[in-house]
Amino acid sequence: MIIVMKPGCTPQDVEHVAQLVRDRGLKDQVIVGTDRTVVAAIGDERRVDMSAIESAPMVERLVPILAPYKVASREVRPQGSVIPIGRGVEIGGRRLTVIAGPCSVEDEVQIIRIAQSVKLAGAHALRGGAFKPRTNPYEFKGLGEEGLRLLAKARAETGLPIVTEVMSIDQVDLVAEYADVLQIGTRNMHNFNLLVAAGRTRKPVLLKRGWSATLNEFLLAAEYVMNEGNNMVILCERGIRTHETYVRNTLALGIIPAIKRESHLPILVDPSQGTGHAYMVPSMSRAAIAAGADGLLIEVHPDPEHALTDGAQSVTPSVFSQLMADVQSIGAAVGRTT
Ligand code: PEP
Ligand code: MN
Repeated sequence: MIIVMKPGCTPQDVEHVAQLVRDRGLKDQVIVGTDRTVVAAIGDERRVDMSAIESAPMVERLVPILAPYKVASREVRPQGSVIPIGRGVEIGGRRLTVIAGPCSVEDEVQIIRIAQSVKLAGAHALRGGAFKPRTNPYEFKGLGEEGLRLLAKARAETGLPIVTEVMSIDQVDLVAEYADVLQIGTRNMHNFNLLVAAGRTRKPVLLKRGWSATLNEFLLAAEYVMNEGNNMVILCERGIRTHETYVRNTLALGIIPAIKRESHLPILVDPSQGTGHAYMVPSMSRAAIAAGADGLLIEVHPDPEHALTDGAQSVTPSVFSQLMADVQSIGAAVGRTT
């Protein structure tokens, strides 16, 4: 941390700030320039609250040097993390991973049929919500444990690992019993107690970016999980809230190179929640792979018009199959395999 003093500060002001730095267990070093004096705080500033120093007299501003995340930071593992999600499937590294399936598990025939068709098209894992966070409390909220049982059946039929959302702490043990990957949704990215509970399991966690979260907040949420000893965090960009109305969310693909620079964690893109419209999903899938995403999370439904949730953004199995072929070509152009 560099503390920049205001012009005209006295040696007493500077010493006062230097003392505040020492009070926090860090070393101080005062650098007197021709126009400005700065105080460098030396040591790990991430474990102490430096922000209050801003209120000391004659302090102009604080300039952090270290990113606040520690274990999620790229420097911890410059080569990038590869996260095994079960049954020989990994996320990260050269291979792309596509997780596909319905927004919600609706019934046995639906989930088995979709699992078989996405597997045939080359998907690596099956998604499907059993506990659904709904904006409107009167809409379908998922089949609950029955949905988890059906997902497990679909896994037994197809061999695909299953990814499903956990919405609250009291669901963690139950969902972890069935799922290969625990999904934490956009609405819960800031639910720190849930992040901690997921971090105490030994299941990979697919963490969606909060729809108004900054990159910093996103990585600090990952840090919450990892701080409990669970390093298996898979990030997922799913679009953010903007002023735009022709999309449900604005898919912020610029976060992919930024995450790659800042963190070793793999990042997937969800163009289904990320656009809200099925017709946009194939092109945004291609764009995500071209931009360096490690894979995709895609909603697929054989009868989108009758889907219980998110039909407007669900692609049919035949569109999905073409999408997989396109992803393979784009992937090859950027050095990735499927
Ligand atoms: C979903 O994947 O169906 C979902 C609810 O995602 P999000 O949390 O990104 O809205
Ligand atoms: Mn959905």
